[in-house]
Amino acid sequence: PDLSPLDVSNEPLLTLDGAEITLRANLELPAEYEGVRRYGAQGIGLYRSEFLWSRHNGQPTEEEQYAVYVEIAELAGPYGAMVRLFDVGGDKIKARGAERNPALGLRGIRFCLRHEEILRTQMRAVLRAAARGHLNVVLPMVSDLVEIRRARAILEEERQRLQREGKAFGPVRLGAMIEVPSAVLMAEKLASEADFFSLGTNDLVQYLLAVDRSNDQVAEWFRSLHPAVLRSIHRTLEAARAASIPAVVCGEMAATPAYAVVLVGLGARDLSMTASSIPRVRRTLRHIEVRRAREIALESVGCATADEVEELIRQRLAEAW
Ligand code: PEP
Ligand code: MG
Repeated sequence: PDLSPLDVSNEPLLTLDGAEITLRANLELPAEYEGVRRYGAQGIGLYRSEFLWSRHNGQPTEEEQYAVYVEIAELAGPYGAMVRLFDVGGDKIKARGAERNPALGLRGIRFCLRHEEILRTQMRAVLRAAARGHLNVVLPMVSDLVEIRRARAILEEERQRLQREGKAFGPVRLGAMIEVPSAVLMAEKLASEADFFSLGTNDLVQYLLAVDRSNDQVAEWFRSLHPAVLRSIHRTLEAARAASIPAVVCGEMAATPAYAVVLVGLGARDLSMTASSIPRVRRTLRHIEVRRAREIALESVGCATADEVEELIRQRLAEAW
């Protein structure tokens, strides 16, 4: 309802009742780099590194990756960037060999752990680039704590190897994408071993509601405001809070102002989205009270259907703002 001009400053964003919200950019293509600066993103909440596979027609070398990650770190500045490990497979970059059900196949961290040399090369490139700026690593499609442990062991081995070789490297924290139902249900355990969470609402909706995110036939079943989705987000953010680890919400959901209000109500203080969406979301969140957003979110979590949640949000937002 707010008609004030779009807000493109990168001053800290405060809600009416003084809560600080961080708005970061999701990034994939070099064409989007300019937007990170222009729209005042506070760093890069998700760098989809698998894009490099299409650019290089296959696996990019360590040096190619290093150059890109240094560029990303410089672009992100003091807020830093989360480099997601290659989310190859699924509906994204095709992994080798056809799979009957790619969304449930060799995707994300599964692909990385299966092809360990690819994973080690990427870890080395990030560790080295982290000497030049603030970079963290995010594991895509985590469905079991063992994947975090294995990835951490490999990160540590590569760190030691760089040290032995006398090469420069920087500190890198290890986060887990929470985007499949088992990760939500096990969030408390994952939070005890991940350095941070990154909530991927696109895949979370897909896997929670069993709706192929790229299939138009079932688009009407893809409901970001389904109570099951909201409960999952709430639970995940609570687990992160209890374990005192940061959590960034980086699905496209955060880019819709009304949804961003609900996310803040569910406990999110760190949102990442397509850079061009940041000004709109910033303008909305500047005019809300967290106290009120929380009431709306908790009411939504108690609804029985997605229709009910949508109607509730429409009404409450019209009343409040
Ligand atoms: C997500 O799943 O919500 C996400 C942020 O990652 P991607 O869209 O690249 O799968
Ligand atoms: Mg995803």
